[in-house]
Amino acid sequence: MKIKDRVLIVEDESHISSFISTILTANDYDTMTARTGSEAITTITSHCPDVILLDLGLPDMDGLGILKFVREWSTCPIIVVSARNHERDKVEALDAGADDYIVKPFGTSELLARIRTAIRHTRTHLPNGDIAQSGQFHAKGLTIDYDKHQVLVDGENAHLTQNEYKLVSLLGKYAGRVLTYDFIIRQLWGPKAKNDNQILRVNMANIRRKIEKNPAQPEYIFTEIGVGYRMVDPE
Ligand code: CA
Repeated sequence: MKIKDRVLIVEDESHISSFISTILTANDYDTMTARTGSEAITTITSHCPDVILLDLGLPDMDGLGILKFVREWSTCPIIVVSARNHERDKVEALDAGADDYIVKPFGTSELLARIRTAIRHTRTHLPNGDIAQSGQFHAKGLTIDYDKHQVLVDGENAHLTQNEYKLVSLLGKYAGRVLTYDFIIRQLWGPKAKNDNQILRVNMANIRRKIEKNPAQPEYIFTEIGVGYRMVDPE
């Protein structure tokens, strides 16, 4: 018998909570619910869910507080589900350790896809916290060959520079997830790197010229305006 993944829904509005719960149950997940921040923390510490869906506006505390508390001791995937749609709210949540961010109202298939992505990332983590980075990443015509350090489009070498390759392979490693500019800069150039999005934008413009058919309408790497970049899901 397959063990079902367990999703904790932290949400104070009961109609939203039961809506999500119904979708997830129908798609073979076990669900738990919490209506307040303190209920959420009790449930998380005692049950260790596989994924947490976290509303930010809770009656007793802010969801960001829960996020920071959980991140001190757990890498359990957390997807923020919030009506707050400002860039700075998304950046703040992602930089505080959220794995993803969904804006209400959201579609069922979007929610399910984000949950699958979050679970896939925990399952591919190695014990040392790194993600295995050998073999190949495939999405449509795009291939990242981690062993040869090459990116291919329709089988042809895209001739990326070293910086461009590092950026694409980082996004491939976290495919399906939005990575903030800040996170990318720290991963590529170290914790002391200057927080300069301009360098990223220049690199991304060059990458898109090399890998996208139409750089203005990318099919591989998407921009989340004011937040960061997201690589398309692998196939
Ligand atoms: Ca709420």
